[in-house]
This record gives sequence, structure tokens and C-alpha cells, in this order.
Amino acid sequence: MYVVVSCQRCNNLLLGDTRHRTRACPHCGHRMVLRGRKVLAKTESSQEAVAMIQELKKRDAEES
Ligand SMILES: [Zn+2]
Repeated sequence: MYVVVSCQRCNNLLLGDTRHRTRACPHCGHRMVLRGRKVLAKTESSQEAVAMIQELKKRDAEES
């Protein structure tokens, strides 16, 4: 299972694999524990998660 979470340091969206406990942010390198983070989306495949991130980013851009 893959989850989309936002980085607690830089606020960028990133993809996490629930098999791992922590995930380093690809944007700022900050390592965070996935558990306890607010999950914005859950998907079965990484491709889906990437598409979800793009969709959320687009939505964000439209709102602001
Ligand atoms: Zn970050």
C-alpha cells in the first residue's frame, strides 16, 4: 500500500510505502515517520500514488 503525505518540513507532497516505517522527503531530505502523518490518499500502486500527487498539486494550484 502506498500513501500520499505532506512533508512536515517543506510541505511538499510525497509518496510513502507503508512497508517502510520512515520516508525521506525527496524535496528537502527530511526523514519522517509515516505513522501518525496525515494521509491524504492511499493507493495500491506507486503509479496511482504519483498520479494522485499530481492531481492534489493541481488542485492546490487552482485553489490558491
Ligand atoms: Zn520536505
